[in-house]
Amino acid sequence: MLNIVIFGAPGSGKGTQSERIVEKFGLNHISTGDVLRAEIKNGTELGKTAKGYIDQGQLIPDALMIDILASVFDSFKDSKGVIFDGFPRTIAQAEALKQMLKDRNQEVSIMLDLEVPEDELMTRLIKRGQESGRADDNEETIKKRLVVYHSQTAPLIDWYKKEGKYQHIQGVGTMDAIFNDIVAAIEKL
Ligand code: ATP
Ligand code: MG
Repeated sequence: MLNIVIFGAPGSGKGTQSERIVEKFGLNHISTGDVLRAEIKNGTELGKTAKGYIDQGQLIPDALMIDILASVFDSFKDSKGVIFDGFPRTIAQAEALKQMLKDRNQEVSIMLDLEVPEDELMTRLIKRGQESGRADDNEETIKKRLVVYHSQTAPLIDWYKKEGKYQHIQGVGTMDAIFNDIVAAIEKL
């Protein structure tokens, strides 16, 4: 299996590039943000819990996210591989992912780090908020999400470097140019 972690700050383009990777390599896609937004839309208990955190720009507790991730992963049958979009976001989640895959005789193949400067992230997210109305894409919440990214999520860069899985991707440029760099990195595996 080809198991790809797509990583980056909020607004770095994980979702956009994931769709293309899925199409090209025939993978299953787990976007934890999309899963949570669907739960919120459907008014489930999980959705109610998640909304409280998301509106504050905070992360959902690890234990809850890890359970969700395993159940989505196990719902895929005869998968060629999975792209993990928005997960892991903490060291505890990365360790849980490693163990979950190990229990299934799998591992992460590569971690793609989409790097985008902070002012560009801010511009993209404010624009997305205006166009899509995503409630957490407002200036105040974006700032909180970026703080959370730096404190809780960015440490995963060194974690994946130590695992020998890290691949930097320049996240600024045309969508095609970024995608070409991603494809080249995957095809080298
Ligand atoms: P991008 O724009 O690159 O897709 P994003 O940061 O805008 O990234 P999502 O991945 O859609 O957003 O996540 C939205 C929110 O859902 C997060 O801010 C967080 O509150 C919650 N969330 C998503 N994934 C996780 C996770 N793995 N652990 C904890 N909370 C999560
Ligand atoms: Mg997304």
